[in-house]
Amino acid sequence: MGAGLAGVTTAWYLAKDGHEVVVIDREPEVAAAASYANTGIIAASRAFPWSGGEVGRALRRSALRLDPEFWLWGTQHILLRTGGSYRRVFDAKVRLVRYSQQLMQEIELNTLRNGVLYLYREAAALEEAWQRAGAMRALGFELERLDAVGVRALEPGIDPARLAGALYAPGDQAGDAALFCRELAARCRALGVNFYLENEVLSIEPLDTRIREVVTRKGRVRGEAFVCALGVMERKLREQLGTHVPVYPVKGFSATLPLVRADAAPQHAMIDESRRVALAPLGGELRVTGGAEFAGYEKSHEPQDFAPLYDTVKQLFPGAVDYARARVRACQRPMTPETTPRFGTGKYQNLWFNIGLGHMGFAMAAGAGRITADLVSGRTPAINLEGLRIRRH
Ligand SMILES: Cc1cc2nc3c(=O)[nH]c(=O)nc-3n(C[C@H](O)[C@H](O)[C@H](O)COP(=O)(O)OP(=O)(O)OC[C@H]3O[C@@H](n4cnc5c(N)ncnc54)[C@H](O)[C@@H]3O)c2cc1C
Repeated sequence: MGAGLAGVTTAWYLAKDGHEVVVIDREPEVAAAASYANTGIIAASRAFPWSGGEVGRALRRSALRLDPEFWLWGTQHILLRTGGSYRRVFDAKVRLVRYSQQLMQEIELNTLRNGVLYLYREAAALEEAWQRAGAMRALGFELERLDAVGVRALEPGIDPARLAGALYAPGDQAGDAALFCRELAARCRALGVNFYLENEVLSIEPLDTRIREVVTRKGRVRGEAFVCALGVMERKLREQLGTHVPVYPVKGFSATLPLVRADAAPQHAMIDESRRVALAPLGGELRVTGGAEFAGYEKSHEPQDFAPLYDTVKQLFPGAVDYARARVRACQRPMTPETTPRFGTGKYQNLWFNIGLGHMGFAMAAGAGRITADLVSGRTPAINLEGLRIRRH
């Protein structure tokens, strides 16, 4: 259930294992929700849990939300920050991202492999990031510190006056996550996987400790094993799963802008860390994303939501893109309080979860899919799942 990054990668590994697989999604095409217009940065060297600062700012902006689910999520996140489990979460995230990176090499789909830049506008912030990156360098991730001139050497179109410098991760990648899903779905189809699209899952039908079938808009679907990869899903459906799924939507904004001057445009994917805006050159266009809001389940957007994104591009790469022809949307990251996904079974023995890919779904998808397929097949996954299992109640 679910044809985003989580669902399609799971289907791929299940099909390769020889299972008969059906993928159900309510949208007419795969990767139509969170996996559609993300920046597609595989930021392996930046696999930190979301910082207190990032979530704190978003929580403060949303402080008036009268939503108990939101407050439970927020409290759990704050406890993580203060309760000493940060290191455990960090280790789990790095384990998964590194495993995914390795699997992505084997999948061999098209990604931009010239590294990723993490830009800083203030010297103090750059220094702090460099210190923090020590933890990643100690684990073998390659990260270089560049001053503004060094950034300009990699990015001839950038305005260096805006920058203190950057961290450059030559091993990080970027790609079009939706294209990746579509191409992987085509490979799945070639292995006999059926995609039941435009077909909403309405309810699940348990019998004792197992799921017997799911009820969809177009009929009932029976199966021996079910995988819940529904990303941000409706409360009504979540309540039937028999297990607390600690996912809350964190809304972001995405604009895809046609290039008008290729020589003025970015050559690398990058994150302007001072503005929390991410940029990726994808197939002759520039994808720019940003924003982290707790807006509940609504996905509306206003022109002003994109102003910080456009300002960042205008400042860093003046004259590179055509703002009048932007394609815009808001999307929801399926985020757990720890910002790590959850795998395994809960109340029902044949309902596996692959849920909560959060802000790093592309970076974690291959590992998440392989782990889920291993669990369904009764195999022990290649990495330790400590900190990545769904709770059973
Ligand atoms: C602005 C933004 C930028 C991002 N940038 C990056 C990035 O640079 N790098 C990175 O690694 N990650 C990034 N992410 C995160 C990444 O996009 C997500 O982690 C990932 O897409 C989640 O994949 P998923 O398969 O879990 O969820 P989704 O892609 O949302 O898939 C869930 C699927 O379930 C379907 N569904 C839900 N309910 C039902 C139902 N009842 N019946 C049938 N179908 C249903 C939906 O239609 C959807 O297709 C970004 C996210 C956002 C919002």
